[in-house]
Amino acid sequence: MTEQTIVDFRALGLAEPLLKAIEESGYTTPTPIQAQAIPLALQHMDLMAGAQTGTGKTAAFSLPILHTLLPLASTSTSPAKHPIRALVLAPTRELAIQVYDNIKTYAKHTALRSTVVYGGVDIKTQTPILKTGVEILVATPGRLLDHVEQKTLSLNQVQFLVLDEADRMLDMGFMPDLKRILALLPKQRQNLMFSATFSDEIKKLADAFLNNPTLIEVARSNATNDNVEQKAFLVNTDQKQRFLVQLLKQYPNQQVIVFTKTKLSASKLARALERDQVPCSAIHGDKSQKERIEALDAFKAGTIHALVATDVAARGLDITDLPLVVNYEISTAPEDYVHRIGRTGRAGAKGIAISLIDEDETKYFDEIEKLIKKQIPKEKANVSSSTTPTRSRPSKASSGKDAWFEQPYQPAAATAAPKAVTAKSAANVKRKVVAALLGGFGFKATPQNRTQAKRTTGRSKQKSDLPAQQPAENAAETANIES
Ligand code: AMP
Repeated sequence: MTEQTIVDFRALGLAEPLLKAIEESGYTTPTPIQAQAIPLALQHMDLMAGAQTGTGKTAAFSLPILHTLLPLASTSTSPAKHPIRALVLAPTRELAIQVYDNIKTYAKHTALRSTVVYGGVDIKTQTPILKTGVEILVATPGRLLDHVEQKTLSLNQVQFLVLDEADRMLDMGFMPDLKRILALLPKQRQNLMFSATFSDEIKKLADAFLNNPTLIEVARSNATNDNVEQKAFLVNTDQKQRFLVQLLKQYPNQQVIVFTKTKLSASKLARALERDQVPCSAIHGDKSQKERIEALDAFKAGTIHALVATDVAARGLDITDLPLVVNYEISTAPEDYVHRIGRTGRAGAKGIAISLIDEDETKYFDEIEKLIKKQIPKEKANVSSSTTPTRSRPSKASSGKDAWFEQPYQPAAATAAPKAVTAKSAANVKRKVVAALLGGFGFKATPQNRTQAKRTTGRSKQKSDLPAQQPAENAAETANIES
């Protein structure tokens, strides 16, 4: 089945309560990844799907799972009637919360229960809801294992395993945790894996986790979205900051995310920009979960305009309508470039990604161009000697986006882990400036780009073969590119 034949969700054969929720969410047409993945997942196939955040991948795996579990939904209060039947693993707290939020929305007219568990908050706050029983559990790997150790949940009735942003899970060193988790799951289950990039490691992971998976490629591996105009400026290290301020002035009233490589440079840059009267906020691994949620809420509410972020902190943030991404520091991992610029040009909208390259970074940029198989036009930065203060409150309006993308924002207070984190209202958040993070819908689904991937290896190792538990996701995050 192709994008052309699937014009509405009803044609996918989804149950009425799900169709109602989809309609209420304002979705009219399945996205390419949904049009491809949902029919296959409904046929109980394992999938390995190339899709980044912003493509509608969450609904692509959640809807078939909810549809399949629907006959098992129970209104009984007995926890035994609500075993964990679907486990969704996500690399970061932000993504886990976002996925949970979507699942809750899609399941709202059903008796299926869901929750989310992630590190960085008191584990005890997550236990009561687990004890009442949930059919769908969204989790970060480290915290899931903490719960397993505390015997606050059981995974022996899991029928579905979803690995979301699998490439990032590997980057963050979650492989040992994933193996441990896998060993705890029933062998008979359906596996759905989503990844923005397809490295050899990802293929190995797929071999280990998936059973004869169907490969869905909605975009060329490591491709960048055609809707995103990519530009680069060659600029001296000591002039980068001044040039950034100058650049931001050329995009008045547009929300922007500025990427740095390290937590330290994110903090330093945010402070420097504020000194230059560019209101902004930094989001990185040293910020508490509460601070991150507050910054995100403030951004979504439009009270923050520019966000300075590290790659890890930015993962999984679902913010609509981001016209501009600036790569202030070029990542040494070329895949990060694909993730970074995937934050703009979403849902067919136009986006701009600008990279500032200093003399030490040209070699990293060369690697990026090799990966994306594209030469990015480069100009020498013309840095003016003075900069004047810029920008006022950001306008929520932007050009070139689909109407459905204007859906009202659900405050995080309603979406964060139940009873764990309560976000302050956006009104209480200190007024700063910020960004939005998105993915691309610019894919074409064709019958040709769906191929059968071969099964090459068997299932997971036994638990006894596996290394001791790794530190929870906080530590993994810190150990990653943020330094
Ligand atoms: P995801 O890639 O799952 O993070 O989804 C990105 C955004 O697209 C989320 O805000 C979803 O609510 C929204 N979305 C997902 N599917 C559709 C659809 N078929 N039509 C409109 N919006 C959608």
